[in-house]
Amino acid sequence: MHELSIVMNIIDIATEQVQQAHARKVDSIELEIGTMAGVEMDALDFSWSAAVRNTVLSDAERVVDRVPAIARCGNCGLEFRVSEPFMPCPACDNVLVEYLQGKELRVKSLVVS
Ligand SMILES: [Zn+2]
Repeated sequence: MHELSIVMNIIDIATEQVQQAHARKVDSIELEIGTMAGVEMDALDFSWSAAVRNTVLSDAERVVDRVPAIARCGNCGLEFRVSEPFMPCPACDNVLVEYLQGKELRVKSLVVS
């Protein structure tokens, strides 16, 4: 399950930040996850609760910002909200679109103590 490797990666980042700040644990963590980042939120929740035990994130409050996907059409230049993967341009049906946002997958902020 690829969500588990995402969580493991987040734990690595958080552990590093806690060490750098000479702190002991993370109080809260804010994640930015685009709707087209390919992350299943249910799977992420499940992996999270299993993986964070006995880590710096075990008691952390988790906030997830979902970033809506927006693409620009390579043909007519229209910018539109993407509601499903590989959605063509609603104006000209072109499938060559560039994602402007929505593929984010990152730790936005961490509060340590
Ligand atoms: Zn178009």
